[in-house]
Amino acid sequence: MNIQVEQPCPQCGGAVTLSVEDHLLTCPYCKVKSLLQSSGPFRYALPDRVAPKRQDDILYVPYLRFKGNIFTVSESGIAYKVLDTTQDGCPQPGLPPSLGLRPQAMKLARVHRKTKGRFLPLALNIQEILKKAARLHSMFHQEKEALYHRAYIGETLSYIYLPLLPREDGVFDAVLGEPLNNADTSSIQRLKSVPFRSQWRMRFLATLCPRCGWNLDGEGDCLVLTCTNCDTAWRIAKNGLTQTRCTMFSGPADTALYLPFWRIAVKLPAVKIQSFADFIRRTNQPLVPQKAWEQQAMQFWIPAFKLRPKIFLRTAKQMTVSQSRLLQEQQEKKMQMQPAMYPVTLPLSEAKQCLKLVLADSATNKRKIYPHLPYVKPKILANSLVFLPFKDRHHDWVQIPGGTVIPKSVLHFGRTL
Ligand SMILES: [Zn+2]
Ligand SMILES: [Zn+2]
Repeated sequence: MNIQVEQPCPQCGGAVTLSVEDHLLTCPYCKVKSLLQSSGPFRYALPDRVAPKRQDDILYVPYLRFKGNIFTVSESGIAYKVLDTTQDGCPQPGLPPSLGLRPQAMKLARVHRKTKGRFLPLALNIQEILKKAARLHSMFHQEKEALYHRAYIGETLSYIYLPLLPREDGVFDAVLGEPLNNADTSSIQRLKSVPFRSQWRMRFLATLCPRCGWNLDGEGDCLVLTCTNCDTAWRIAKNGLTQTRCTMFSGPADTALYLPFWRIAVKLPAVKIQSFADFIRRTNQPLVPQKAWEQQAMQFWIPAFKLRPKIFLRTAKQMTVSQSRLLQEQQEKKMQMQPAMYPVTLPLSEAKQCLKLVLADSATNKRKIYPHLPYVKPKILANSLVFLPFKDRHHDWVQIPGGTVIPKSVLHFGRTL
């Protein structure tokens, strides 16, 4: 679902259209880049047709928009589903249970401190709403089966408000200007509502390197910006830009692309995994653990970019299992900007949610690992961002030297090159 939002440029006021996932605005008029940052999910509203003098009367009903992958691990294996949905966060008789295709058919407006009217709060918590969405989309695993793990990954979570106009003759959908015939006007008017809250505010940040003041590089939906002047990487965090440790393995001359991975060093006491050798033994890999692996902390390698669920999990597993080849054959060095670096579009927080899934997927004997999953609490020792070289091979990108293959068709490419 491609949902667009109208966003005036903070510098020149020009009308810019963004995707709801975008965190970076590059103004086509004044060329200034601005970062969009907020302490919680972004909040938007469907455009209303209410006259300016009646804007104070608008009542905004919250819908949660979730886009991401849901994975489950049960006795029969790992299942996944791509979910892109809007669910009502404050169900009321007569109101639509979902916004359906409407957010795609029109440009949304961001709600901000000058937005008049009042907002209804969520009646359910976010986890319950996601669970309900998963159920509605008939999420797999038969009821009798044991469910060992469930994870929501790579999601965009935002609020989209439906504006209503309560009048003496009924409640009106303020987008269409039509009455909601089955809605109970008096009970809707009795609901508790609040004006715009200051903590919902979205802030604009300058895209200057906090270290050297140079202009940072990045694409609309990227979550880590890089500085070509001092070779540093900056993550968009809750309180602004935070420096992220970033390294790379430089490839041979025919390297066509560098892809980012989150490298997460962990201990998994519940399954007795501390070293890479432990991991190889516990997951029954067809490899003989080498002496050096006993000393090497267990590290998961998770793509720092979005992929379809099946390929995402397969890539993470292959990278994690084959990590020893990389460390043997190549030197790790400080990141140096290259022309063909793919942007980071999957945040570290989501990568951390994947560890148990990658462990489950790596297990050649499910019974040895799956039943332990509910007790596995990964203890994270360190994390960093690492760019790895890939070769161009017809329809695929092939990692050098590990050999992990990513089909070109699944990377929306042509964006940074
Ligand atoms: Zn501008
Ligand atoms: Zn810099």
